[in-house]
Amino acid sequence: MIVIPERDIVRLVSAADCLMAVERVFASSARKMARNFPVIREAIGHADALYGFKSGFDRENLALGLKSGGYWPNNASRGLTNHQSMIFLFDADTGRCRAVVGGNLLTALRTAAASAISIKHLARIDSRVLGIVGAGHQSTFQLQAALEQRQFEKVLGWNKTPEKIGRLAKVAQERGVPFHAAGLEQLCASADVIITITSSFAPIIPAGLIRPGTHLACMGTDTKGKQEIAPEIVGAATVFTDEIEQSISIGEAQHAFTQGLLDPAQIVSIGDVINGDHPGRRSMEEITLFDGTGVGVQDLAVASAAVDLAVASGMAIEIDA
Ligand code: NAD
Repeated sequence: MIVIPERDIVRLVSAADCLMAVERVFASSARKMARNFPVIREAIGHADALYGFKSGFDRENLALGLKSGGYWPNNASRGLTNHQSMIFLFDADTGRCRAVVGGNLLTALRTAAASAISIKHLARIDSRVLGIVGAGHQSTFQLQAALEQRQFEKVLGWNKTPEKIGRLAKVAQERGVPFHAAGLEQLCASADVIITITSSFAPIIPAGLIRPGTHLACMGTDTKGKQEIAPEIVGAATVFTDEIEQSISIGEAQHAFTQGLLDPAQIVSIGDVINGDHPGRRSMEEITLFDGTGVGVQDLAVASAAVDLAVASGMAIEIDA
């Protein structure tokens, strides 16, 4: 069995590796070759923790397994990350445990890869202004990956508490792209691409602010009840997602769906666009929206890539299972 500790992931796996792995598994999902198993997420009644599993199987890549983990809100005071995860891969032929892979950085990278893939396939090719709503832990990963996808000339950032915005400014400046803190109205009026990555439970962007031609990547809503944008925006957009079932139950589309503003039959799997089975954006005026809910097969895809890279580079630690 191969072990890849969390500390080795940063040296082993790049954002580009993750983008490739996630794009491949989204394509596989749309071909019905990869599927997610039901998600388990439970409040354990200890340490205020939420704990659970995301699991699935990709028959094309033979990636079988689960990500175990959750949210420990008091970890920061112990010098630990609040989100904790570990990915377990199993041999699809024998069921034996093949690898145990640190999942914290990989989760951040696979989430960033998802919104970047949506920009790659759905944003207008002439997109020049990137807006980012949210400046938490995940936001800098989303920003870094997004900057690879278009020739952005400016980044506008908004956060509920403005003092956190500096981390976005730092990333943009490192990449040589001007950064400005902005109000929501200004951000929506200027941005060609908007990424939302907050843990809000009420709409931050109201109806009417989004310009025609905008691409939205809504990444923060991954639980029932969370919400980042007005359901009218979702109802008026062409909606793409990583998994339609999750999109209408735990994703940003859940609210438009329950309010009857969105027919699930109209939601497009992003993999269909990758595979060339859906044209994606149809006009320069269309508002496209990617509802990135975070799926188990995404975790397995990046963990498998990490294992392959560890074996190829001689960094894999082998132990007897
Ligand atoms: P974090 O706790 O580090 O940051 C939270 C962010 O949300 C901060 O910017 C905070 O200001 C903002 N926020 C909280 N409440 C708000 C409100 N009411 N209005 C406006 N902004 C508010 O969290 P993070 O690690 O950056 O994750 C952000 C979100 O992304 C979380 O909801 C997390 O569950 C989600 N997430 C989704 C995926 C996915 O695959 N879709 C993966 C990882 C994380």
